[in-house]
Amino acid sequence: AALARIEATDAKLGAFLAVTPERARAAADAADARAARGERRSPLDGVPVAVKDIFVTKGVPTTAGSRILEGWIPPYDATVVERLEAAGAVLVGKLNMDEFAMGSSNENSAYKPCHNPWDLARTPGGSSGGSAAAVAAFQVHGTLGTDTGGSIREPAAFCGVVGVKPTYGRVSRYGVIAFASSLDQVGPLARNVGDAALLLRTIAGHDPRDMTSSTRPVDDYLAALEGGAKGLRIGVPKEWLDGSGLDAGVADAVRAALAAYERLGARLVEISLPHSKYGIGAYYLIAPAEASSNLARYDGVRFGLRAGDARGLKEMYAETRERGFGPEPKRRIMLGTYALSSGYYDAYYLRAQKVRTLIRRDFDAAFERCDVVAGPVTPSVAFRLGERTDDPLKMYLADIFTITCNLAALPGLSVPCGLEGASGLPVGLQLLGRPFDEATLFRAARALE
Ligand code: GLN
Repeated sequence: AALARIEATDAKLGAFLAVTPERARAAADAADARAARGERRSPLDGVPVAVKDIFVTKGVPTTAGSRILEGWIPPYDATVVERLEAAGAVLVGKLNMDEFAMGSSNENSAYKPCHNPWDLARTPGGSSGGSAAAVAAFQVHGTLGTDTGGSIREPAAFCGVVGVKPTYGRVSRYGVIAFASSLDQVGPLARNVGDAALLLRTIAGHDPRDMTSSTRPVDDYLAALEGGAKGLRIGVPKEWLDGSGLDAGVADAVRAALAAYERLGARLVEISLPHSKYGIGAYYLIAPAEASSNLARYDGVRFGLRAGDARGLKEMYAETRERGFGPEPKRRIMLGTYALSSGYYDAYYLRAQKVRTLIRRDFDAAFERCDVVAGPVTPSVAFRLGERTDDPLKMYLADIFTITCNLAALPGLSVPCGLEGASGLPVGLQLLGRPFDEATLFRAARALE
């Protein structure tokens, strides 16, 4: 059914970069056979899922949305893919994304645009645009994305689905094509909070192949779901609701959600995150710096595209990178290489890391007075395709509310909180939690559903 649905809808939607019918049919048949024997590996047994094309998949092309990886067939599976399949989930394909996860609208995909199922003229968000659109368009029940500065939560908000960016270290990054290694984290997108909890429960936990993955036991997110909002202290950052460039329709929906929490017995607490205004600045130094280093491996020798090799090694490197990378990775490689170059490290990268510590301290102080922080995910609802492609700075501002969570290594969740009055498009409420307290995010989000 999922394959048929993709066949019927994806020419218009553009959520998939690759569909894997053989792998899916084999997995589905195996799940059916288990079911006939009365066996079930997990609640995900036989459930169709898909993953962003940033996760390497054995024998299945993996591009990270870039031409430079065209034709590369990985020899292994990412840990999260392995864990989904071990639970019985049926992988049906690889999802569209911004090139190397750089973007907020999926428009930096080197292959094709992805459309928002609510309005095909609009962006599904990015960089995990395909992951959000596929869930919203009922192509699959759940997907995985990655979030470096908002790339799960922003598309989830734009497509009216649930998206979770776990604590840094909660989920293995083994087999995840690296963008900014100190910020990247894997998480689920799903149509409801319970499905997202189930997916995270399946993929989370220590992986000896990722030294940054945490050995902390994984909480029982499903048990946390029915805790209700009563007694929760919800921190509302005063900087996020007023005078922050937030559209009125989004602010209304967020305020209505906060009022609903009060009716459910939660208490709202005003908090302050004074350094969050430096988030975008710090992020757009740290992320390009780390990206410039991570992308150095695409040299035409080991993966995918190779160009100009007839003329010599240097020409081969240069032509491969010139032809293989699109404009956004090139922009970031230049920014990042500059920021890391000799004599500038202290002034830029190191300074941005210090800002990061200040942002984390704001949250540490806030979490002494509240259990979760709540606010908008994005300043606006899904914008029109093409509207911001000429103005990278304007595009970067889409991340203004999501980026501090990554910089502070906290868990964050986006849950639909109604429709914007004027456009009828979905609005997301963002919930942020203490490190490794995803359970409270699921509890709070479920209460609002
Ligand atoms: N939009 C942000 C960027 O372009 C975040 C992307 C992400 O989270 N992967 O870097």
